[in-house]
Amino acid sequence: MQRTATAVIDIKALVSNYNSIKLLAPNTNILAVLKANAYGHGLIRIAKNLPEADAFGVARIDEALELRAGGITKPIVLLEGFFTEEDLPIIAVNNFETIIHSKEQLTVLEKSQIDTPISVWLKIDTGMHRLGVSPEEFKQFYQQLISCENVKKNIRLMSHFGCADDVENNNTSKQIALFNELTVDTLQEKSFANSAAICNFPESHYQWVRPGLMLYGVSPLDNNLTLSCNAKLDPVMTLYSSIIAIRDINAGESVGYGAAWVSKHDTKIAVVAIGYGDGYPRHASNGTPVLINNRIVPLVGRVSMDMITVDLGKNATDNVGDYVELWGKNLSVSRIAKAANTISYELLCNITRRVKIDES
Ligand SMILES: *Cc1c(COP(=O)(O)O)cnc(C)c1O
Repeated sequence: MQRTATAVIDIKALVSNYNSIKLLAPNTNILAVLKANAYGHGLIRIAKNLPEADAFGVARIDEALELRAGGITKPIVLLEGFFTEEDLPIIAVNNFETIIHSKEQLTVLEKSQIDTPISVWLKIDTGMHRLGVSPEEFKQFYQQLISCENVKKNIRLMSHFGCADDVENNNTSKQIALFNELTVDTLQEKSFANSAAICNFPESHYQWVRPGLMLYGVSPLDNNLTLSCNAKLDPVMTLYSSIIAIRDINAGESVGYGAAWVSKHDTKIAVVAIGYGDGYPRHASNGTPVLINNRIVPLVGRVSMDMITVDLGKNATDNVGDYVELWGKNLSVSRIAKAANTISYELLCNITRRVKIDES
């Protein structure tokens, strides 16, 4: 076992999460979302271990190229489409699929001199108001794509939810109703659901679902609600490190930068080799749970670049070298995210280069 900050990636858990998604959405294709280094889990590693996925989704053309260079031959969808006209020949040569969400993209696509037509997913803005063509523009866009020589004829239609993690929010049903109304006449394949919608809104599954977070075994619902997803999810990443020092602290003494935490009691403090330089969130508050020797102990004092400090209690029997879990199998990353006032997505993809990656 490594004794410095290490992320263990559990491939069996990944496959089991994939199968859980398949149970929730049995008759749909799965576009596994691998952007941002597969949410910090390693792009190629995750792609190679999802042999049954129908396609992969990434956010940047460089991520797609990395997949091809890594020997991945499955369809790859650029979830934000292309950014410049130079991207189009790269898309054509590598057989990437692109989303089209704007006038600018359509104009560039129509003028492009590519040799082979490419696969396009037309994104409609049904209410999130981030990317997508407006409901008013949709029919015109669709017609133009159909008549564009650079586009393959199986144009897929898609949209994205803004609030699918919150079952109480009626934006989601409005988005679905609008999407259905706009696309009722076409027989093209459709896609809407991210992880939260896969859990909460089966009526949004259509022909393609797009799970990201769930694949990695993290509930997309934990951050907002007490509800949990009906799928069996097993955390894929466990982040651990070890205790590198233990010291006695008297009541009234402070620990760490800014003397921001002062002990109310005599106690033992452990210094753990993990910090924001590894991707542990600097804003984790006092009391953030840390798992040591089968019990939760509180983070105390500020998170440094390379270390955190935790309060073991006066009678602790822990030792230097003991294993410390920061999040993963026994401590959900959602709990850490909540304590750091962020979301699990951010914690996972913020794991830095110096964290060792182990597979199990
Ligand atoms: C990131 C992304 C997803 C996956 O979202 P999760 O909440 O992680 O499941 C799905 N669709 C699009 C367009 C995305 O950008």
